[in-house]
Order: sequence, then structure tokens, then C-alpha cells
Amino acid sequence: MPRLVLTNVRLLDGDNPPRDRMTVIVENDRFTSVGNTPPADPRPDDECWDLGGRTLMPGMIHGHYHATYTDFSAAERLPVGMEAPPAVQTIRAVDHLKTALHSGFTGVVSAGAPYAIDAACKAAIDSGMIEGPRVVAGSRDVSTTGHSQDGFEWHWGEGATAQTNIADGADAFRRAVREEVKRGAEMIKIFATAGHGTFGPSPGLEMTEEELAAAVDAAHQRGARVRAHLANRDGILASVRIGVDIVDHGDGLDEACIEAMIARNVFLVPSIRYPYLATRLWSGPQIDEMRADMEDMIRILPIANKAGLKMTLGDDYGAKPLDHGTYGEELAFYVDVAGIPPLDVIRWATRYGGEMLAQSEELGTIAPGKLADFLIVDGDPVADIALLGDARNLRAIVKGGRKVRWELQNPSEAATDPQASQPTMIH
Ligand SMILES: [Zn+2]
Repeated sequence: MPRLVLTNVRLLDGDNPPRDRMTVIVENDRFTSVGNTPPADPRPDDECWDLGGRTLMPGMIHGHYHATYTDFSAAERLPVGMEAPPAVQTIRAVDHLKTALHSGFTGVVSAGAPYAIDAACKAAIDSGMIEGPRVVAGSRDVSTTGHSQDGFEWHWGEGATAQTNIADGADAFRRAVREEVKRGAEMIKIFATAGHGTFGPSPGLEMTEEELAAAVDAAHQRGARVRAHLANRDGILASVRIGVDIVDHGDGLDEACIEAMIARNVFLVPSIRYPYLATRLWSGPQIDEMRADMEDMIRILPIANKAGLKMTLGDDYGAKPLDHGTYGEELAFYVDVAGIPPLDVIRWATRYGGEMLAQSEELGTIAPGKLADFLIVDGDPVADIALLGDARNLRAIVKGGRKVRWELQNPSEAATDPQASQPTMIH
């Protein structure tokens, strides 16, 4: 494969402020050179592009992805979309994963899926059968009999075994996690508390600490990780102490939680875009509770961000009214609603997301040796974060050095319209 030599790049590397007039070289699936001078060793077969000052940034990562969710609605009850036959849910997942990639998300970390659909889709993507992002495959929801979601219709009848893995007792939790890993899950989803869109009050965990500890131990022993639906302070503190890897939602977060999570390198996926939109659509006591939790989160998130808590993008897309394909709007949302600086939100989407996905630093930033997942964007997302909410601004999407989208113009077209500063193929 010829090298890809990109010059006149505005480099947004996933961590630092943009740098202009940079040169980035990609060879096979990785970046091999990033600098501010022309390539030192030009090769006759180099594929060279002058980006005309366009922004090059890492592919974004979605940190809480439900590939199967489709018009899923808790507030409007049945049908919720998860009662559909497995093949139908799989077809939806294939479509959504492709949408994610074409929205600039080159990686997704699942927050749960039925019928081992994530693991199947991941295998199909990795073998080239279908187009999609890098996937960390999720499990069914694991929790106890009668937990806050256990009254929902999709947990009954046939759906019960599809969507949830009910366990009672430490041994049962251990077994449930082993079953999920056997089915291909790399990320175990535990429903650990109520709140954040689920019904019923829940002071603390919906399981014993012994049960949760058994789940975490079983997952880690098999090389899987654990993410937990958590929406109260005590639940967060207990889960972090026990060793969960990712806190989902995190309603009830306070300074003690932030400190504990940073100390143990636990990620937070605040996912408050769903409650933000849902509380504008629906009303009732549960919605009021959701709104109060969300407002607390809006207050604490800038503090958590400043303290250095690693957060990522990601939310319950596919749950009404949050549509698949609008993932990139989340960046402007956190800037506008929670006052997070644009560069920090970009870091959530790239560096931290990459770290969460890959469990290493080889994804999510642009530097020599890193995996070449990147976007070429019209304009400067730091100056206008909303650019990333419209995939039409993405002129190129590249995953592992392979072009998923490449809409750059050839030199003759560029010459006729210098005003547009079209990217130019140099030779
Ligand atoms: Zn979710």
C-alpha cells in the first residue's frame, strides 16, 4: 500500500490545541510521521494530498452504544423495539453500526445488546463482511430478580432471556458473567441501580456487594470489563471500590465519587443528552426525578472535567427521542449545556474514547505509531464545535488506514476555485 502523505494540515491531535501547516504520513494502518516539515524521504509512489488547511482529527469514539436500539421508548411503553425477533434486531444493528462509521465514529463501546448481536457484528466487521466501526462487544444486562428494569415488558417471556441475564447470589453472578463472555461479550453490562430512565427508587445497589464483586472478578479473570448503570452516589462509590471499569450515567456524582474514580482510573459516560431531550417531551414524577438528576449533573460535570475525570461521549441513541446518526451533535451539546470547553469535549470523543475502547494509548490521538483512524473536517471544530454534528462536514473518514469516505478534489478542480481552498492532490 502506498504511503498517504497529507500536507498543509490543521492538526487537531485529540489532546492539544490545533497546529497549522503540519504534515502527517500514514503507512498501512498507522501514522508513521507527524511534523511541521515536508516528508524527509519522499517516495515515488507516495499518495500526496494538500489539505488546504483543513482539520485532521482522530476518528471519534462512541462510549455507550446500543447497536440494536430502535425507536426504543421507556416512557411510551410498548412496543419498545427490543421484542423484535433476533434477525430483525441484527439487521437494525448492522445498519446502525454503518451509520456510526459514516457519522465519523470509527469506534463504539457497547453498553449492551441482546442475542450476542454485538459479538456477531464485530466478527462480521473484522472479517470485512459488513462496514462498521471498531466494536467492543457488549453483553446482555446482568442484574437481580426484581431489579428496577425487571418490571419492564421486554424483560418478560421470551424477551427476558434475550435482554437480561438474571442472577441471584454471588455464584449465579459469576456464572452469568462467564455465560456472557462465552457468547462473545467483552464488556459486561450490570444494572446496578435504578434511576436515569428506569423506574423505582433505589438507595444504593440493587444487588449485594458480594454479587457485584463476583461479577467483576469473573469478568476480569476472563479478560472482560464491567460497566454499570449507576444513578446514585452510594452505588457509584461502592461500585468503584469493588472495581467496575466504567460508570454509566453517574447521576448523583459528587466530589467524593470524582476523587475515587480518578484514583482508580474509572471512566464516566455522563450520557445526559437523553434525559435532556426526554424531559422536554414527557412529564410525570419519574421525569421530574430525571430532570433534577440531570440538572445536578450539569452543575457537577465542569468540576469533574476540571479535576481530570476521564469522560467520553455516548448515550442511549435509538431510544426516543435520540436518533441514531445524531451522535456528533453531542459535542456541541456538552459545550452549550454543560459549559465544557470545545477542546475538552473533543478529547472526550477522541483520546479518552480511544483509551476506553482500546485499553491502550494506540487509538484516539494522532502521533507516530498510533492507529490511523482519522477524519478530515471542513473548518475548525474547536472554533465551531457544531461542525462535528453534521457528517456532511466530514470530507474523509479513514479507519485503520483504509478510506471509508474520501471526498477530496483533484488538482484541476481545486485550481478553478481557489476561494474554496479545495484539497489538492499534488502529483
Ligand atoms: Zn444505555
